[in-house]
Amino acid sequence: MHVHVVGNACVDTMFRVGRFPAAGETLNASSYADGLGGKGANQSVAAARTGAAVTFWTALGKDRAGAWIRSRLDRELSDLEASEFDLPSDRSTIVIEASGENFIVSGVACSEAFDPIAQTALARRIAFGDILVCQGNLRAAAINACLRAARQNGARTVLNASPIDAAALPDFGLAQVLVVNQSEAKALTGQGDMAAAADALAAKGAGTVVVTLGAEGCLVLGPDQAGPRRLPAPRVEALDTSGAGDVFCGCLAGGLAKGMSVISALKFALAAAAIAVTRPGTLISCPSASEMAALID
Ligand code: ADP
Repeated sequence: MHVHVVGNACVDTMFRVGRFPAAGETLNASSYADGLGGKGANQSVAAARTGAAVTFWTALGKDRAGAWIRSRLDRELSDLEASEFDLPSDRSTIVIEASGENFIVSGVACSEAFDPIAQTALARRIAFGDILVCQGNLRAAAINACLRAARQNGARTVLNASPIDAAALPDFGLAQVLVVNQSEAKALTGQGDMAAAADALAAKGAGTVVVTLGAEGCLVLGPDQAGPRRLPAPRVEALDTSGAGDVFCGCLAGGLAKGMSVISALKFALAAAAIAVTRPGTLISCPSASEMAALID
């Protein structure tokens, strides 16, 4: 069974500052660095490190940033299907204040231009029993087309509805497993109680609903309305939780592709994400292939 991750890849430029600048002010950063980012990239790397066979379908500009992203992904993935556009590659500027507070501005031209079903061989490559993973960075119509093609081919679908654009949501009825965090669950349903939010998301048609609860693990409802059941996260000293949700989703997909039940794959994802939060960084905090193998044994 193969995992197909469809989503964005970008250059994250991270600036650390003592305090945010005021409007019109220029500040020097205390440090800055470029890193590989994008939820699609992060999730495909995490899924590949589980040992599952993974293809990552993404969109890059024909520019130096695109070549740089490709070279980084080539180190991690054996099958990268990147469509190239005469557009600037996607990038995010992340400004982090000494307090840990941050703001992010993203350029998403390639993600917006990407139509995986029209522009790639994705629909022909998804086979019966495969796992398709999408996030919220592409246009809702493009996400829906991918999920529909997967369902038509007898593949299973995992939708991480993040980031959310309330004005243009994908069709949750096409997701066999829907994954959201607590703030997304609340924004999507208006419910502060996560069991009630999971019920409301199931009512929108998702087969199994997973709400991640940070240090508290996750809540799972379904399939067939079974539950809700809370699965605890291992207790760890968290240092940096950025990217934990992506490790969680990538490992969930990898676990499913390796034949685990949804509950077993979620327990594996909780164990892997708990390792990630003990380290700084997003992609670099993801457990290595040998650490993942130790979790599975
Ligand atoms: P997101 O990263 O999308 O905001 P969460 O904060 O819910 O979502 O975290 C996603 C997953 O990462 C959680 O379900 C859990 O498995 C893991 N995680 C996050 N924070 C911690 C923590 N402090 N201790 C252990 N695991 C954590």
